[in-house]
Amino acid sequence: MKALENKILEEGIVLGNDILKVDSFLNHQIDVELIDKIGEEFANYFKDKNVDKILTVESSGIAPALATAQRLGVNCVFARKKQSLTTDENIYHSSVYSFTKQVMNELIVSKKFINEGENILMIDDFLANGQAAKGMIAIIRQAGANPVGCGIVIEKSFSNGRQIIEDMDIPVYSLARIAKLEPGKIVFEEN
Ligand code: 5GP
Repeated sequence: MKALENKILEEGIVLGNDILKVDSFLNHQIDVELIDKIGEEFANYFKDKNVDKILTVESSGIAPALATAQRLGVNCVFARKKQSLTTDENIYHSSVYSFTKQVMNELIVSKKFINEGENILMIDDFLANGQAAKGMIAIIRQAGANPVGCGIVIEKSFSNGRQIIEDMDIPVYSLARIAKLEPGKIVFEEN
């Protein structure tokens, strides 16, 4: 998605060799016009998947997930993050490791909001090692629902996240694919 790539080139800041900071339009301030286009793009791509609901992870996944949900006319659920294990029997949960924050997070979703047999589309801001997506897939499966796709705003394709999700036969669609990050330099995959 050209508008997104241009925005990343103009405003993205590379931290070290593998972290991209996009606080000015996605992760802190949200560019409403761009997020609307992102929602439109995901909705068009996944329109034939009979999506019943969107699942994302708080907090940075919520904006693109909501924009997509609005376009598809479905509701959007976000997994909450907690650092300690909880034993509440009314929730689905899975443990995921965050490489950016270097902590284990517990993803939690109330059993009320994902139902057996529903087609669930996952949306997230970044895909790196696939941990967040794996956590969402585990929760969808616990509910007896179907993970029908994974929409990613920015994929770091030098990490192995896409492979992990595609190996589970779940299609991945990314709007910007980054091949390489270096201080002051962002290189996209050739289309
Ligand atoms: P994964 O779970 O695929 O390893 O990483 C994806 C999650 O980590 C995303 O939900 C995102 O919040 C965070 N993340 C991974 N890489 C980056 C990055 O370069 N920049 C930002 N802002 N977040 C990232």
